[in-house]
Amino acid sequence: MSVKLSTQVLSNAMACGIKFYREHQNIELLKDSEETQDFTSIFNSLFDALNRKHPKEGIRINSQDFKVLEDTLSWLDEWESHFEKGNITQNEFLTRSTAEGLRVTIRSTIDLTNHLLKDIGFKYVLTNKMNQDRIEQFFGTVRQATGPNEHPTAPTFLQVYRLLSVYSILRPPKTGNCEILDCSLPKVTFNDLKEVFSEEQSEREQKIKKLKDKLDYLVEEGSWDPIDDIILQDHNYCNEIKSTVKDCIIYYICGYVCRQVLKRTKCDKCIFALKGAGTHPQAALTEIKSKGFLIHPNYYLFKLVTAIEDGLNKYVQGMDVFNSTIDYVLENHSDLLNFPCPQHKSAILTTIFQNYILMRMKQFTLTHNRELKQNSSKKKKLSKLQKT
Ligand SMILES: [Zn+2]
Repeated sequence: MSVKLSTQVLSNAMACGIKFYREHQNIELLKDSEETQDFTSIFNSLFDALNRKHPKEGIRINSQDFKVLEDTLSWLDEWESHFEKGNITQNEFLTRSTAEGLRVTIRSTIDLTNHLLKDIGFKYVLTNKMNQDRIEQFFGTVRQATGPNEHPTAPTFLQVYRLLSVYSILRPPKTGNCEILDCSLPKVTFNDLKEVFSEEQSEREQKIKKLKDKLDYLVEEGSWDPIDDIILQDHNYCNEIKSTVKDCIIYYICGYVCRQVLKRTKCDKCIFALKGAGTHPQAALTEIKSKGFLIHPNYYLFKLVTAIEDGLNKYVQGMDVFNSTIDYVLENHSDLLNFPCPQHKSAILTTIFQNYILMRMKQFTLTHNRELKQNSSKKKKLSKLQKT
């Protein structure tokens, strides 16, 4: 079982995705998927409540997490009552052992947490620490110590357990035929490290400087007036003019890029120019995912990022993605090269270019490497089946 994959499926992003594709894209298969969406988001909140890791998010008295746990229990009871009344079939409910397991886990978490907080006097409880990982690790070590043994037995376990109990940690010998001659000098100096990284850094810096010079020359002062931004006054994204999924996703990422840029600027004019009102049809996904904290980018910024994305799609397989993409945008979309703040225009646009291209390249290499890995493991499997 892969916990990582199951948490990815039962996540808030998945619930938002279902809603987005059902309401915005009208996907036929997702008709009546409200219950699936609820199921996904209930499990997401439950998993969060059972996975508190840091003191800041730990469960305290009167914590919201108690409500999440209690709500999940009553939701489970209600679901089961439908099965018992015969409203739904066995297949439409969890298996008996899963339902019981879930109930035991939630109930005992509530009781144990209450006990620790109220009776023992804990300030907070970290539910992530309630696990059997160490025991599993111990049995794993015992299992490994016997080598490729497919049928471990109780006597083997006892034997290995005794052996491991007296086994000491490997230590370097106190005496030997090798020694450190000069203890006072550090083996690796800070300058050595600098030298290793300086070459790489300079290439990157060179590229960015080149971009900035180009933009210095090309970018003009122009109006990014937010008044142009208001197309749809009412926030009804789903029934008004529809935009494509790709546009919605670029808009969402654009908000992220915008936040990165906003972090580095204190100029009021720039801050005012970068933010948008979020009244465009492309804002649908951002609106669904937002809990009130996501940034809506200015529409000009969105158009610029869309142009960069087009360039990236063209040149992503090439050797010099960064420069080719920039040249593409500069040649084909020179109308987008303007910014309202004359003082920071080239600096802001350079950051946007740099951040977006870097982020997309990271994603691209990640998926590409994953595909390569999958292919090689497939080949490995095939080679095992082949007679040689
Ligand atoms: Zn400025």
